[in-house]
Amino acid sequence: MSKLKVLFAASEAVPFAKTGGLADVAGSLPVALEEMGADARLVMPKYGCVKAKGSEAVIGKDVKVYFIENEEFFDRKELYGDKFGDYHDNLDRFAFFCREALERCKQENFQPDIIHCNDWQTALIPVYLNTLYKYDPFFANTKVLFTIHNLAYQGLFNKDEFTKTGLDWVLFTIEYFEFYGKVNLMKAGLVYADAISTVSPTYAKEILTKEFGCGLEGVLKNRESVLSGILNGINYDLWDPETDRKITKHYSAQTADDKYANKEKLQKDMGLKIDRDIPMIGMISRLADQKGLDLVAKIINDLLNLKVQFILLGTGDNKYHILFEKMARIHGKNTSINLKFDATLAQKIYAASDIFLIPSKYEPCGLSQMISFRYGTIPVVRQTGGLKDSVQEFDLKTREGNGFTFSEYRADHLFAAIKRALSLFKNKAVRMELVKKIMALDFSWEASAKEYAKLYEKILGK
Ligand code: ADP
Repeated sequence: MSKLKVLFAASEAVPFAKTGGLADVAGSLPVALEEMGADARLVMPKYGCVKAKGSEAVIGKDVKVYFIENEEFFDRKELYGDKFGDYHDNLDRFAFFCREALERCKQENFQPDIIHCNDWQTALIPVYLNTLYKYDPFFANTKVLFTIHNLAYQGLFNKDEFTKTGLDWVLFTIEYFEFYGKVNLMKAGLVYADAISTVSPTYAKEILTKEFGCGLEGVLKNRESVLSGILNGINYDLWDPETDRKITKHYSAQTADDKYANKEKLQKDMGLKIDRDIPMIGMISRLADQKGLDLVAKIINDLLNLKVQFILLGTGDNKYHILFEKMARIHGKNTSINLKFDATLAQKIYAASDIFLIPSKYEPCGLSQMISFRYGTIPVVRQTGGLKDSVQEFDLKTREGNGFTFSEYRADHLFAAIKRALSLFKNKAVRMELVKKIMALDFSWEASAKEYAKLYEKILGK
């Protein structure tokens, strides 16, 4: 049987360019697919930050990466915009990328069975395949899977920019591109894709509702029969407390006690009291409304009265910078507030913390809870999206579950969940049992890649 041919189209991928979780997926999934026997290739823009030379590179053992080059469009420091906002020519840039991704397949004589598109930047690919390339025999058997990583970002542009897509105005209707008078690239992509997925089963259901659908719930409802959710994994080679070079002492589930050397070191570095018996609560997050920071703000005073240490790493909305700076002034002794992006410090916090907070309002998948598991740090999460699919309440009696959860978006419920997590500090044996258990969980890419392979086969009618 010939190999399954998959072209993975993404606007960012590790190790070349990253602004968010999409880059982790794009850098890992094609490699995992290749290891399973597929001929997977990746296509992405060649930004100024891409260090590789030429128009091609390799990731994994043999996954070819095709860079789409255009100095005017892509040779910039940032990917989508700068401090003044989104780049004014984003529609030109990503329409060009989508056209060129298809042309590149022809140049390379690579006839994909599946083009796996991701987010609005690639949404014109399924549209072009069904319009400009409709009668092109080269793509006669090519199907498209469109994955939504975050529905809140849809690629919205003014109506007068529509001509930049190169498409006929007949498509500017509410069945295709039109969205409240604007051009919506993701909407058209969702209409034309053969199948749609998102990054967790729960988020796949949530986006059909008004609360989470960002105005596209109707479009998604029409396509419900081809919509599914597959949870992301994390890269277990990159996130590994046994080999992580940024942490003080390596540890595994078998040597979990060594985790606390990392805690003491971070306490020392951050000027906190050095004491491994004081619970350390960590949080690493974009400081955005999505992440449930208003709940944290409401409980923080009560929380810090409980004799715990709170360590935060994050950047984002100014209002949260102001809030956490104030908190640092009031509770300086028990808190460490770090308002920046710092990948090294993040690793140290995952290794040092006992408890990790993720009280998100919505969370398509979430990676932090999986990283926390890997480092033996107990997550406290709100039951939404991928958090719901990966974290279950720990039951002291049956010992089932792997973290602490709450459902309603309420500060007192978050506080109660944290208190349940803290109650484990009364019983070290049980706590260590849970720490070891979560370290042994498997959220690596392998399982997710298998599910994607199954989905591709289904789309191809096999
Ligand atoms: P999102 O993509 O919505 O930001 P995810 O949980 O999917 O949320 O991914 C966030 C990733 O970014 C995690 O790996 C987290 O550790 C990391 N991260 C977030 N903020 C920071 C920061 N300030 N410094 C370092 N890493 C961060």
